[in-house]
Amino acid sequence: MSKTAVDVCVVGAGPAGLSAAYVLSQSHVSTAVLEASSQVGGISRTVVRDGFRFDIGGHRFFTKDDEIDRFFRDLLGDEIIWVNRTSRIFYRGKYFDYPLKPANALFGMGIGTTAKCLLDYGSLKVKNIFRQPEIISLEDWVSNEFGHELFKLFFKNYTEKVWGIDCSRICAEWAAQRIKGLSLRVAVKEALFPSKNGKVKTLIDKFMYPRLGIGRISERLAEDVVALGNEVRTGSRVVAVNHEKGVVTSVDVEAPQGRYTLPLKSLCSSMPLTELVLAMKPEAPAEVTRAARSLRYRDLITVNLMVDKPRVTDDTWIYIHDPTITLGRIHEPRNWSPEMAPPGKSSLVVEYFCFQDREIWNMSDQTLIDLTIKELDRRLGFLKQDQVSDAFVIRVPKAYPMYELGYEEPLRKVVDYVGSFSNLETVGRYGTYKYNNMDHSIKTGILAARNLLGEAQHNVFDVNRAREYHEEKVLP
Ligand SMILES: Cc1cc2nc3c(=O)[nH]c(=O)nc-3n(C[C@H](O)[C@H](O)[C@H](O)COP(=O)(O)OP(=O)(O)OC[C@H]3O[C@@H](n4cnc5c(N)ncnc54)[C@H](O)[C@@H]3O)c2cc1C
Repeated sequence: MSKTAVDVCVVGAGPAGLSAAYVLSQSHVSTAVLEASSQVGGISRTVVRDGFRFDIGGHRFFTKDDEIDRFFRDLLGDEIIWVNRTSRIFYRGKYFDYPLKPANALFGMGIGTTAKCLLDYGSLKVKNIFRQPEIISLEDWVSNEFGHELFKLFFKNYTEKVWGIDCSRICAEWAAQRIKGLSLRVAVKEALFPSKNGKVKTLIDKFMYPRLGIGRISERLAEDVVALGNEVRTGSRVVAVNHEKGVVTSVDVEAPQGRYTLPLKSLCSSMPLTELVLAMKPEAPAEVTRAARSLRYRDLITVNLMVDKPRVTDDTWIYIHDPTITLGRIHEPRNWSPEMAPPGKSSLVVEYFCFQDREIWNMSDQTLIDLTIKELDRRLGFLKQDQVSDAFVIRVPKAYPMYELGYEEPLRKVVDYVGSFSNLETVGRYGTYKYNNMDHSIKTGILAARNLLGEAQHNVFDVNRAREYHEEKVLP
């Protein structure tokens, strides 16, 4: 493995790091991408097993940014297919359409409950005429947009399943980003009188997807980076970032061949911002490391089942709100693209949201698989044990940066500290500690590359901050 100095070292071969490397490679800048895992794609990789293809939870591509839209279409060309979105919520033993359809919700919840929700929403709107409520937490925000009854029915259980903390401890900012443009009034209006152009992002019902899985984005980028003469080194974990007088000078890398130091002129990092700070040599000031340690993430497990059945569900996603069922979300890859499973067979990806120090993360793979099949069989009725031909588990540490109340101040300290290095750019979902989708992650990579090329001075932390960027799903 070459230890020769590079102009730019990129840490992480997910969409953000590889987009940066791609732009740099097009400008003939010597670049090495170091990726800890054995394959590219990061959290949006596609894992291939026995002819089945599994994403790490269903990943659809969507963007409002014309440049990123073109980037995606140019990169994947005729690999792109359009997928109809049909998603449902499972709650109280029934399925509800997602996004909400009034008739379905009315008959599903019962007229009494629906009337209560509408009355509650109406009285809230009247109260708001006289006194604007204080919006601090996610609970405040959603209750204000949808009414407290609907919050308790449709948001609280699932959101707390995803985050593992009470909705009153999650920042309102998170909900405002994800649910922008949607309120009960808009949802009902959109369902009754669908608009052609004015559709809010949350209600979008078709999306683009690479027919061989979402990991194709990163695979294609890596292919181009290599074709342009640069390197993507998998199995190479950056364990220390060496610096002197405000300049990053090299990184220490653990690779299959052993540990080595790679000198560099600039560093573009998509590794988690908090881990970057803790990898600094000499160490970051104590208050910065303390701040980095206080920022938390939610972790994710996917249980991937190969099924001897041509199809299990009709859905893109199924959100399991029911708090008595442990699993959080299901998707059937074949419903995204028929090429995700061999002919006549199908598969399911089942997501569990958890913390690394809790029971579920530490269960054995077999216990997790057994739990999954039990819930799918006895609680949801999707399949029987003998229809599952094989299964495996993927553990994803740090899947969601957590917007807990009070996270802003420690994050500011960390961001200020990394911003003090003259040749360091941080990119991507984890490099900016933001709930970024792939389009945002790609955008940060492209902007950072332009900064490194000296073409611009973008602040990548502004991506997914501007109003028009905000995404979209009501449920995480
Ligand atoms: C369950 C789930 C569903 C999602 N669904 C969607 C969706 O539908 N649509 C959408 O647009 N987005 C979705 N996302 C978000 C999407 O996954 C991310 O925006 C995107 O993958 C982030 O790309 P990235 O390059 O910033 O980070 P990553 O994909 O995480 O890549 C970072 C890479 O850095 C590597 N790395 C970390 N530390 C080191 C180190 N020390 N040394 C070397 N390498 C290191 C990691 O191994 C990883 O490969 C979803 C996310 C989750 C968790």
